[in-house]
Amino acid sequence: MIIVMKQGAAPTEIEAVVNRVEELGYKVHLSRGEARTIVGIIGADDYLLNQDTFEVLDGVEKTVRIMQPYKLASRDFSGAASEIPVGPNAVIGGKKIVVMAGPCSVESREQILETAHAIKEAGATVLRGGAFKPRSSPYSFQGLGEEGLKFLAEAREQTGLPIITEVMSSDDIELIGEYTDIFQVGARNNQNYSLLKALGKTNKPVFLKRGISGTIQELLMGAEYILSGGNMQVMVCERGIRTYETSTRNTFDINAIPLLKGLTHLPVVADPAHGTGQWELVGPVAKAAVAAGADALMIEVHPNPSKAWSDGAQSLTPERFGQLMAELKPIAEAVGRGI
Ligand code: PEP
Ligand code: MN
Repeated sequence: MIIVMKQGAAPTEIEAVVNRVEELGYKVHLSRGEARTIVGIIGADDYLLNQDTFEVLDGVEKTVRIMQPYKLASRDFSGAASEIPVGPNAVIGGKKIVVMAGPCSVESREQILETAHAIKEAGATVLRGGAFKPRSSPYSFQGLGEEGLKFLAEAREQTGLPIITEVMSSDDIELIGEYTDIFQVGARNNQNYSLLKALGKTNKPVFLKRGISGTIQELLMGAEYILSGGNMQVMVCERGIRTYETSTRNTFDINAIPLLKGLTHLPVVADPAHGTGQWELVGPVAKAAVAAGADALMIEVHPNPSKAWSDGAQSLTPERFGQLMAELKPIAEAVGRGI
């Protein structure tokens, strides 16, 4: 349940509501908006609560029951779309669609620096690159680790682009947190609840991908783990799901984009590279995602995809990426956004 306070409710009135909730044995999540404060009641059985208990208190406008199992992630919790500022210029979830681009893996200093400059030139506002890679085989390249993080940080220094990189284990949060602007949680960890809980205790944005065969509800419950830990800077990403179809690496679920926009206030990102596995399909699916309402895109770009150490088949060359950025512009404008 959420308790919506009246506009301009006094701090003492808010405090009295919080005290009442806590007396009843529930946890509180306070959201102080520009106009009004919302008190979220968190507890597995909050449906047992009587709404009148709170509606009689001074300063309370109304209470709203949130029927979905995800509460803080729900659209009902916060009617307004959440905006997540990243770096000096990017706001994820704002009017402008944010494009995060870069190689699947950081392979060398030269490779990431060259890519960073190229994607910046093309209009991307966040640099991606994996330093800790979740590979299906233990014999495949596992990422450069901290060395890769250092190369990413140098690329940020040179270009001013904030960086996003994947964290696979709670043991690495501290190290990766020293470098990254956004923690990426990959598809394989959508339901790694100990990792998600630990990220809930950090104060950096978290980019959460949908599980390999994950449902939308499982994606949002993953987000709820981070939010309930106190970190409200979470974005969710559609990256394709495994279906019976084998012609593509995954099946990009375009439905997920408008559906998520309705179910959650969190920014929604589309990853057409992992969603398709084929570079020829990345542009068309990216355009469809923008038309469907995505707040951001994540696109793999490599200076020489045929030599990439991972995911070359789905990576765009910097040139193709530049062309795609130009083609996305009118589509973003047609849906009232910029890019
Ligand atoms: C990636 O972004 O390179 C990645 C490993 O993605 P996913 O978790 O979606 O497979
Ligand atoms: Mn990849």
